[in-house]
Amino acid sequence: MKEPLRYHSTRHAEPAVPISQAIAAGLAPDGGLYVPERLPSIDPAAFDPHGSLADTAATLLAPFFADDPLTDELAAICTEAFTFDAPLRALPAHPNTMMLELFHGPTSAFKDFGARFLAACLRRLPRNDARPLTILVATSGDTGAAVAAAFHRQPGIRVVILYPDGLVSPRQAHQLGCFGDNVTALRVAGRFDDCQRMVKTALNDTALQAQLPLSSANSISLGRLLPQMSYYAHAAVGWWREHGTPLNFIVPTGNLGNALACLWVRELGLPVGAVRLACNANATLPDYFAGAAYTPREAVATLANAMDVGAPSNFERLRWTFPDENRLRDLLRADSVADATIRQTIATHAHEYGEVFCPHTATAMHRLDRLRDEGDTSPWAVVATAHPAKFESVVEPLIGQRLAVPPALAAMLARSASASPLPATDMALQEWLTTA
Ligand SMILES: *Cc1c(COP(=O)(O)O)cnc(C)c1O
Repeated sequence: MKEPLRYHSTRHAEPAVPISQAIAAGLAPDGGLYVPERLPSIDPAAFDPHGSLADTAATLLAPFFADDPLTDELAAICTEAFTFDAPLRALPAHPNTMMLELFHGPTSAFKDFGARFLAACLRRLPRNDARPLTILVATSGDTGAAVAAAFHRQPGIRVVILYPDGLVSPRQAHQLGCFGDNVTALRVAGRFDDCQRMVKTALNDTALQAQLPLSSANSISLGRLLPQMSYYAHAAVGWWREHGTPLNFIVPTGNLGNALACLWVRELGLPVGAVRLACNANATLPDYFAGAAYTPREAVATLANAMDVGAPSNFERLRWTFPDENRLRDLLRADSVADATIRQTIATHAHEYGEVFCPHTATAMHRLDRLRDEGDTSPWAVVATAHPAKFESVVEPLIGQRLAVPPALAAMLARSASASPLPATDMALQEWLTTA
């Protein structure tokens, strides 16, 4: 009988807590991020060759939930969360090139996987407080909608989304404001960093918390990170069964949540080959991997707005995973892709091959184009993090045609939407929360 896995902060090894406690808490009490005491090893042969993504997730996550109150519910949680696929689609015009499409969920971006899994866990965890729980989310565009969709109409939960007014795409803004019921969207007169600071201040305000129970659902939650491993495992194990080789991945990266999930899958012993990070003009990670000291900075606005991050929140987890800095720099590469290159990549692939990518996905596709130029012929999966129709104001002028809208997104766009304006101050949010 193996010891159950426990979780501690990236900053201190004690106290170690069970997974359900780490998921319920979000951030560790010392301000660090929860990590497992160790990463278990998993045999690729353990997965059912005919299993669905939900089946892969349940097998993959079983050792992470062993002996926890949620263990018996894990299969049901996976089935409830993963109601859509993450297909690995070969690009006909490009040999050995796959798209890992993560945008088939209700809000057309990969954040649906984590948000729905987290919601399915939280629904099952007991709360010893009869008052409604307010979930605060700061979003640069995609997280807010995924969390809202995952918790929409859930009794006992209120979702409050803060987004930077004018800095998300028109369709992202519509999505954020279209839920109603227990979801409120606040358009903040500031930037994403302001939204994030306002949420953090509110969460750390003990007087406010005593009045109004608050929680978060941002990307540092283990309840979002762990399930994101599932689609990498599903794709890599499927590829390995068919071809007998590992599959390489290029991941569009902002806060490092999606890429870290991929790296963890490799650490578990599953057949993930090389991993490369594609960033936008926010070059904190590319500079670090080029040998500079880690220097967080203010984010700049780019076409790939969900990756406009100057201080990647999961960097602390990356350092915990690879404590030896030299080894880490050997293992990973990160590249910065400018807006002009994003535009060019979208236009070229549309005109030459009839393939349309969202601006985030285009950063990764550009990296692969360069690798192919350099003569690399190995199998790569480009991770497609959002549907291009979500960013129509960027993509449509470049490709010179209208994009078909996926049904779930079309349904949201058909609803009316509204968001309340809010000044970018901590005081303004506190006042809004206590009077709304
Ligand atoms: C959130 C997001 C990213 C960045 O993911 P991280 O986990 O923050 O690195 C990339 N693309 C899209 C479309 C996103 O919504």
